[in-house]
Amino acid sequence: MTIAVPADGKTRNHRTAEAPSPGLHTDSPGGGTARKALVSACLLGSACRYDGRDCADPAVRRFLESRGLTPVPVCPEELGGLGTPRPRAEIREGDGGAVLAGRGRVFDFEGRDVTGAFIAGARAALELALRHRCGLAVLKAGSPSCGSVRISAGDFSGRTRAGSGVTSALLKSAGIRVVTEEDIPEEDILDSFNT
Ligand code: SF4
Repeated sequence: MTIAVPADGKTRNHRTAEAPSPGLHTDSPGGGTARKALVSACLLGSACRYDGRDCADPAVRRFLESRGLTPVPVCPEELGGLGTPRPRAEIREGDGGAVLAGRGRVFDFEGRDVTGAFIAGARAALELALRHRCGLAVLKAGSPSCGSVRISAGDFSGRTRAGSGVTSALLKSAGIRVVTEEDIPEEDILDSFNT
């Protein structure tokens, strides 16, 4: 599959760490008393998905606002150097934890090994979370980077299987709580992050 390239012939990179999406409030790194949550930029409306679209989810914004959490937008795949649009990718062996341990690989739909970019993006996302003192991450379900409890099967079949994406696995290993937009309606999630 070949991804359609915009009319200017270039892929885009929203550089979510340095240039948050318009309308998002982010304080100076680590400064102030604002409570912050790392959030998948696509859930906040950034068109950083592999196909150049977003996954804007109003429930995520409502959750953040209701808990007084300032979103810190992040797209690990862009931070890892992958442009947008880009071929979709899946973890072929194991899950994100296996990839970080050197036992799994990530391949895109065109057969390129993009494991290094996924690990680089995960590390950059963790650095961003630590810099902003995020104790919570709200990430996109199912993604090979951001998925928390399920990821694509690895064969581009549309099926999913249990496991974390690469960024989710790294954030969890650092003690950051990771939920997805699918958890947001759950009362226990809302109530247990109420401090
Ligand atoms: S799911 Fe994660 S890696 Fe994929 S577009 Fe959204 S923020 Fe980027």
